[in-house]
Amino acid sequence: MKIASKCIVSLDYTLHLGDGDIIDRSSEGEPLVYLHGIGQIVPGLERQLEGLTAGDAVQLTVPPKDGYGELDPKAIQEVEKKAFGDRAVKAGDEFIAVDDHENEIPVRIQSIEGEKVTVDFNHPLAGMTLHFSIKVTAVREATEEELTHGHAHGGDGHHHHD
Ligand code: ZN
Repeated sequence: MKIASKCIVSLDYTLHLGDGDIIDRSSEGEPLVYLHGIGQIVPGLERQLEGLTAGDAVQLTVPPKDGYGELDPKAIQEVEKKAFGDRAVKAGDEFIAVDDHENEIPVRIQSIEGEKVTVDFNHPLAGMTLHFSIKVTAVREATEEELTHGHAHGGDGHHHHD
């Protein structure tokens, strides 16, 4: 069947940012499995996968606006060093911050000058054009349970409860 909304899709992928250096990939024999059509993967990738079937192998390019977004200058902010408490911070550090809504946000220390720390809250892949190499390994209809849960359940019978 063709990839469409409410399908469970399995695919092998690699990702590079234009220079060919692979920065992310599915593990050997462990494809990415996701519920199609609800934004579990970046929008530009989801859209371009529509209509493909198991066995298809494609190269897909996703511009920043359809990927992790454009770089937002407003997401680069200066904060007081004391906001980090006892944590020793240095330029280049990356860690996960948690906002008021319990969302996890990857942040990067851009620079430190005296008591001022410049923090970049942009997604690490914001502003990047994403180059995917994709091999679709399976497409099937989602079960009622998967649709209710809003995610794929493993083909190995593994199940979890939210
Ligand atoms: Zn579940």
